[in-house]
Amino acid sequence: MTDKSEKTEGSRPLNFIEEIVEREIRDNINNGRVHTRFPPEPNGYLHIGHAKAICLDFGMAQKYGGKCNLRFDDTNPIKEDVEYVDSIKEDIKWLGFDWEDREYYASDYFGKLFEFAVKLIKEGFAYVDDQSAEVISKQKGTPTEPGIESPYRNRSVQENLDLFYRMNEGEFPEGARVLRARVDMTSPNMHMRDPIIYRIILSPHHRTGSTWKVYPMYDFAHGQSDYFEGITNSLCTLEFEVHRPLYDWFVDHLKTDDYRPHQTEFNRLNLTYTVMSKRKLLQLVQEKRVNGWDDPRMPTLCGLRRRGFTPESIRSFVEKIGYTKVEALNDVALLEHSIREDLNKRAMRVSAVINPLKMIITNYPEGLVEEMTIENNPEDISAGERLVSFSREIYIEQDDFMEEPPAKFFRLGPGREVRLKGAYIVKCEGFKKNEVTGVIEEIYCTYDAQTRSGMPESNRKVKGTLHWVSVPHALDAEVRIYDRLFSVEEPMANKDVDFLEYLNPDSLKVLTNCKVEASLAGVKPYDLFQFQRIGYFNVDPDSTPQHLVFNRTVSLKDSWAKVKNK
Ligand code: ATP
Ligand code: MG
Repeated sequence: MTDKSEKTEGSRPLNFIEEIVEREIRDNINNGRVHTRFPPEPNGYLHIGHAKAICLDFGMAQKYGGKCNLRFDDTNPIKEDVEYVDSIKEDIKWLGFDWEDREYYASDYFGKLFEFAVKLIKEGFAYVDDQSAEVISKQKGTPTEPGIESPYRNRSVQENLDLFYRMNEGEFPEGARVLRARVDMTSPNMHMRDPIIYRIILSPHHRTGSTWKVYPMYDFAHGQSDYFEGITNSLCTLEFEVHRPLYDWFVDHLKTDDYRPHQTEFNRLNLTYTVMSKRKLLQLVQEKRVNGWDDPRMPTLCGLRRRGFTPESIRSFVEKIGYTKVEALNDVALLEHSIREDLNKRAMRVSAVINPLKMIITNYPEGLVEEMTIENNPEDISAGERLVSFSREIYIEQDDFMEEPPAKFFRLGPGREVRLKGAYIVKCEGFKKNEVTGVIEEIYCTYDAQTRSGMPESNRKVKGTLHWVSVPHALDAEVRIYDRLFSVEEPMANKDVDFLEYLNPDSLKVLTNCKVEASLAGVKPYDLFQFQRIGYFNVDPDSTPQHLVFNRTVSLKDSWAKVKNK
């Protein structure tokens, strides 16, 4: 056992779940096994909140030499779909986790769950209630007032069995009857007040067809499924804490030996400037407020992937926020910090001009092309160097030039000098302005031939360095600039305002006249780059060799790093 715990002596102290698991291993609870599960309901795409649960479920199994099952919690035939099953599997694999051959479905246990319900009826622990859901809910009382017992609570076992079987034969309409556990109508825990465990649903299920006409409620399916699979640690979010006594009540009625799963709750991931509820995300998709589940502005894993986030950056973000018992709101700037940290190490630096302004270097020979050697990544010497063509006409960014610059503007203005990255120092001698629109259309510079690398003046210092792309070598590109989807930190916080009111109207800007360096001709979807001085970008799946499309993953400015360094 000790060798298992030694592995945990890493760079950070154990979190409370690791402490619990290590104690259980030491005490040989469940024979010292660690077996977890990730239980998504296939009614939507996975989001970054699920990533927090996935990293914990699979991570604990990895850390303690155990196993983690993937279990689809498919107990509600109305909302679920195979489209979601496939996307969930793809996203878990992409995050870097593997359930091996342990892909399970709660619906696989419908037979066993039904038998267990029958056993509870026979033992007097469950009864059929003919009242409507509204009446049952009213009789539940309040946290300070006990509930009222149903007039059907003391039905005979025989009558209960007969009705339950007939419910499953499809003899009664939906809502006509339910099966309830007979627990305690006076319990201070509302979940223990004779909870509904089965309801009639006549729609077919995506896996079991029309075999069943009664379906178990989440609370009745979940713990029992854990038990059937030999799960030791059922890790879930804090809202299930109040369900735990019921979880234990069912498992205690089911178990036949010392083995039992334990539920432990941790805090959810909540992110600023977005929403995390699957229902709200579905609404954004259905109302076409975004371009699908994988819109790069969505907090879904497929959206983040399309945006250019790496699995490493998401895992590192989850590790940074950690697991506690206190609900928190996580700053999206920390997620952005994690992707910058990762891409800073691995993204090749390239030159792209997203708002082009043409510069003509009047004293540079016409027709001459020089190959400049540029390093691919200053953070990673092994990434090597490449040659980039330089010529008499180049593009720079519009905002790198000002007609009347203030003193602190270290870019270009009339009479000022800057270095062109990896090339020469140039001096602005003039510009052409459209007198009607006021737009600067071209600028004219001279270059100093002695300032290129290897020449005597190569070390001459000037205040600013600009990136550039040679006009005859440039490739056209579309660049999509994303901003936060909502303009407030917590779009759901104000109960009186519909969250859609807070959608950020500028969350997507499409720039269609961008110029990128020639080395990007062969890029593939999801390739990652740093556009020097602008940010990190990836290649969108819409991109083709004829029409390059890049997404801005994040800008270079790191507001989180600044906060940390204060
Ligand atoms: P919703 O309430 O939006 O439908 P859910 O939590 O019910 O979402 P599930 O598919 O049931 O979604 O979730 C699967 C697992 O992921 C559960 O164990 C759940 O606790 C966990 N999970 C869901 N959202 C978060 C989150 N924001 N942070 C951490 N874990 C989460
Ligand atoms: Mg759920």
